Amino acid sequence: MIGMIHCREAAYYLSLKRESPLTMPQKGQLVFHFMICSNCRRYRDQIRWMDDALDVIAESAENIRLPRDARRRIEENTRQLS
Ligand SMILES: [Zn+2]
Repeated sequence: MIGMIHCREAAYYLSLKRESPLTMPQKGQLVFHFMICSNCRRYRDQIRWMDDALDVIAESAENIRLPRDARRRIEENTRQLS
């Protein structure tokens, strides 16, 4: 029997899920909690939106080409810091 979890545990499982797969009981508890809690469903959707947005930003940052003088200034400033 899967017990009902509270919002705090649901939020914890959502965070945990981003780091590693949940166990089957954890997944079940989360699904049941989403069935009764619109706030946690909204929170889940917001986390998904944020993860997708961060993926897009990370992908676009890889494709940024800096002008040569900007790259030189960054290299000089980085060298001065070390
Ligand atoms: Zn909740």
